[in-house]
Amino acid sequence: MKNEHKKLLTYVIYALIVVGMFTLIFWLGHFRQFQSFLSKIESSSFDLRQSIVAKYKKPNKNISIIAIDDATYEYFMDKYGSWPISRGVWADVIEYIEKGNPKNIVFDLLFLKPNLNDVDSDKKLVEAVKKYDNVYLSMNFDNYSDKVRKSPVIEDKFKLNIKNGELKDNEYITFVNSRVVMKELAEATKNIGSINVTREADGIIRNATPVFKYKNDYYPNLSLLAAMDVLGVDNISIKNNSIFIDENHTIPLDRTQRAILNWYGKAKTYEHIPLWEIISANNENDNEYFKKFENKIIYIGTTATSLSDIKSVPTEFNLAGVELHTTFLNNILDNNFIKKTSVKVDFLVALLISFLVGYFVLKITSVVKTLFLLISVLTLYTIASIYLMVQYNLWIGLVLPYFSSIIIFILAYCEKYLLKSKDYEQTYKLAVTDGLTQLYNHRYFQEQMINNVNNFKRYGAKFSLILIDIDFFKKFNDTYGHQSGDCVLKQVANILKKNSRTSDIVCRYGGEEMAIILTNTDKNDAVTTANKICNAVRENKFVLANGEKVNVTISVGVSTVGINGEKPQEIIEFSDKCLYIAKENGRNQVVSQTD
Ligand code: GH3
Ligand code: MG
Ligand code: MG
Repeated sequence: MKNEHKKLLTYVIYALIVVGMFTLIFWLGHFRQFQSFLSKIESSSFDLRQSIVAKYKKPNKNISIIAIDDATYEYFMDKYGSWPISRGVWADVIEYIEKGNPKNIVFDLLFLKPNLNDVDSDKKLVEAVKKYDNVYLSMNFDNYSDKVRKSPVIEDKFKLNIKNGELKDNEYITFVNSRVVMKELAEATKNIGSINVTREADGIIRNATPVFKYKNDYYPNLSLLAAMDVLGVDNISIKNNSIFIDENHTIPLDRTQRAILNWYGKAKTYEHIPLWEIISANNENDNEYFKKFENKIIYIGTTATSLSDIKSVPTEFNLAGVELHTTFLNNILDNNFIKKTSVKVDFLVALLISFLVGYFVLKITSVVKTLFLLISVLTLYTIASIYLMVQYNLWIGLVLPYFSSIIIFILAYCEKYLLKSKDYEQTYKLAVTDGLTQLYNHRYFQEQMINNVNNFKRYGAKFSLILIDIDFFKKFNDTYGHQSGDCVLKQVANILKKNSRTSDIVCRYGGEEMAIILTNTDKNDAVTTANKICNAVRENKFVLANGEKVNVTISVGVSTVGINGEKPQEIIEFSDKCLYIAKENGRNQVVSQTD
């Protein structure tokens, strides 16, 4: 194959590899599974970072959870022999806790329908809720059809007061149906917030929805409502893709208009007080006990594994739902939400790291060193990403930089080896080529003579050798100058190449002598070729640098392996002898016999 073609082919192959890689990535990008595979890795890396970050953060000491735990379940079963608890018990619990002057009492429990078998208990709860304005109740949004459950009208007093801005509708915040508390309770309070939570594709909850949209009105998350009370704020605004509560408290929103939660630890991060303990303390008239609720925000929710409301979050596989709500509240009070970097930033970082990795691959020879550097760069980036989360609550993308730098690593290696093989080819070519005529040089000629003789001995592969010497070349040089001589040498070389097969090896033997090794060629064919060349040179008009046209002739000697010798030296000497005879006989001719 000609060299230009080879070069072109190398480029085509290289281009195909690059195009192929990108097509593969683009094609994979069309599969939701691939996207969710990548986002699952990104989320897992977030979870890892979160469990590290949690060690450096302290939860708010003023948040406590009254837990309907496994022991409480046993306590009630033992006392009343039934479950759920009568609503009258909740009225009592409110009264007990209020003895301690808590900041507020937040129920992560739904009181939906009136209990017709226990109307008095319902009434008792309604009275207790009416009595204290720091009691918060829950509701829930969903998307059931009106035919399943008539979507209720929610009273105006429960709407969230948004001063400016609005949120874009999406599946996480916009709902068409709702489960609100029973009518009598709704009349008794103004504090109701939603306790909806949404799992990610991998079943883990990482976000909280601060604001819900129902029938074109906005309603608060239960914990946002509690936080607004603690901060003494009665409205919010939405600006710069954040929920603005006051000067020091904003909730940054992600693309789904939700907040990314920042975890303070595993389960039981917050003080857990079992419900049975409160009831027992009151039974024992231990009024001192209730002082521990002073100024605290008390959440009441189930933690019992048999009843619960168990969720998976980044730091914990089994977490009571109520802890999710306290974490959201804590994030608001500490102004401590996670912000995710935009795709643009992640893309830029990926580009930078990939560039660095590509540079290492191309500049560093040792594979081990390059691999070490790749791993170091990615490790450093990972450490930086943890630092950014600890220090600045920033979630910077890990998957994109990892993915692209590994691809660049592979691509750069492909490129490097293509370049290397091209380099090698070039060096080899220079080593075996004569600079003036571009024919093979003397060293290569000798090598090939040995190879061909070996092939002849092993496989009986015949070959012939043609030796060529330009006639009266000294005189030619004297007449026309050395440069014109060079010019003729080049043109003679071209005639030789043109008149031989691709399998023939055309060499510059030395000075103005040239040689052709004709593989698989016997004497007769070699003589024919020699004559063809001799005639071609004779008939050629050689054009000199000054435009002058001259004639040149050559003398040619031909020998064939097996007939004229079996060693390289013998074969060369025979051709040389023939050449001498051709000169003797008047030049411009082919000689293949010495007798
Ligand atoms: P003949 O072969 O017909 O007997 O006569 P000749 O003049 O060609 O004699 P010979 O082969 O001994 O001379 C070789 C000459 O070729 C000597 C030198 O001037 C010339 N020559 C050798 N190498 C080169 C070269 O690279 N460039 C040029 N211009 N001349 C060369
Ligand atoms: Mg000579
Ligand atoms: Mg000569």
